[in-house]
Amino acid sequence: MLSISPLSVGVASLRDALAGSVVLPGEDGWDAARQAWNLAVDQRPALVALPEGAADVQALVDFARSHGLRVAMQGTGHNAAPMGPLEDTVLVKTERMRGVQIDERHCIARVEAGALWIDVTAPASEAGLAPLAGSSPDVGVVGYTLGGGLSWLGRKYGLAANRLLSAEVVTADGRLVTASRHENPELFWALRGGGGNYGAVVAIEFELIPMRQVHAGMMLFPIERAREVMQTWREWTSEVPDSVTTAIRIMQFPPMPELPPFLRGRGVVLIDGALVEDAGRAGELLAPLRELGPEMDTFADMAPVGLSRIHMDPEQPMPGMSDSMMLDELTAETVDALVDAAGPGSGSPLLMVELRHLGGALGRYAGGALSRFDGEYLYFAAGIPMDPAVVAALEAHFAIVGAALAPASSGRHYLNFAERAVDPAAFYGEQTYARLRKVKAEVDPLEIFRGNHEIPAV
Ligand SMILES: Cc1cc2nc3c(=O)[nH]c(=O)nc-3n(C[C@H](O)[C@H](O)[C@H](O)COP(=O)(O)OP(=O)(O)OC[C@H]3O[C@@H](n4cnc5c(N)ncnc54)[C@H](O)[C@@H]3O)c2cc1C
Repeated sequence: MLSISPLSVGVASLRDALAGSVVLPGEDGWDAARQAWNLAVDQRPALVALPEGAADVQALVDFARSHGLRVAMQGTGHNAAPMGPLEDTVLVKTERMRGVQIDERHCIARVEAGALWIDVTAPASEAGLAPLAGSSPDVGVVGYTLGGGLSWLGRKYGLAANRLLSAEVVTADGRLVTASRHENPELFWALRGGGGNYGAVVAIEFELIPMRQVHAGMMLFPIERAREVMQTWREWTSEVPDSVTTAIRIMQFPPMPELPPFLRGRGVVLIDGALVEDAGRAGELLAPLRELGPEMDTFADMAPVGLSRIHMDPEQPMPGMSDSMMLDELTAETVDALVDAAGPGSGSPLLMVELRHLGGALGRYAGGALSRFDGEYLYFAAGIPMDPAVVAALEAHFAIVGAALAPASSGRHYLNFAERAVDPAAFYGEQTYARLRKVKAEVDPLEIFRGNHEIPAV
């Protein structure tokens, strides 16, 4: 005899109530529905829901609450890895909610929960505007913004979270509320850096920067020059003005036919980023790097949408493992230790080891829960876990590089770059973390919502 569990009975009426859809384990499309952008993550939630709008999200939150389930919001699954088991959780994937409106006159974007950065950067750029978007065109705008948001314009304009004007949020009790400076201000504060712990964000409004042109691109050097190039970049970043935001990476590419010939099967050092300057001033500022004689140099004026692809981030789902930490400073000794650990001759299996330059407006108080970065550089390393032996080799090498950099780190992390479970207290100072827990206790005392980095109620 067919047994019908209370969950499947509830799901039948949930399906009737939704414009969107629900997929249960074992049903057609289950594996596709539960897949995250990071293909190395094996998500097995109680069910996956694909809402079409705010009313659907409200119905899903009510359903989860009344069935004793939790809710995890997911835009793309770029940072799904820290979430762990999801068997008591409704995974709400917002990929069908990608509406974007650009208000040119007031320099404001309103985007729905599932919008990707390219959905915003392209029309904003057409209008002479730039959002504080990250390096990847297919990262989700909402997940990125709730976690902070480090862009190529960051040293000049700060974190994306602090350009947030308002958020439309379904709270744990199923209400649709607005959070802004004027309405629910504590929730608004927590959303600016506190991640997905506070509710289901169905849309956000944020400021755009008036900008028709920006000077951006990348310089490429052979990996054998890693030490010299990294030391020069280190000295250079200690002097550049806030208008300049760049990163440096050691990359070792596999011989994949999909890659362009200048990268295929090669080790390289890449410097990339943006200068909010005209071409003349940008040329003066870039001169010390150009004197190194890069093998390739693409820095040029471009419309802001061009920033979406200078980092050449992968635009298709792929498996990834990573590690990261915030660095207080970058000394010549730290650079030497990093190159010893991950540069030529190190035997490193890592696809990439990256440093992003912080400081400037990223280091200044701006109001949200993640108001500023408490660090001068951000380290990030990643590899492709093809099989268990590679996983072990990557873990071992993350430990080697981490140990090389540890003397320069206060142990702080950046939520968006942390793709493994990290004590969330390590993202924020003690006071901020205590306030974040207090807000959680007020808006979600039963801890229905689980961010990928959980902030528990008090
Ligand atoms: C290739 C690549 C490049 C990147 N480049 C940058 C960069 O330049 N700068 C930067 O700052 N970060 C960058 N990141 C990190 C990125 O910002 C994080 O992975 C971010 O969490 C991605 O958001 P998402 O919505 O795409 O991912 P998801 O994994 O879908 O979401 C991450 C978390 O955000 C929360 N969330 C998402 N949607 C909602 C919602 N509607 N309501 C409530 N909570 C929600 C949830 O807690 C969720 O677990 C990069 C990541 C990758 C893989």
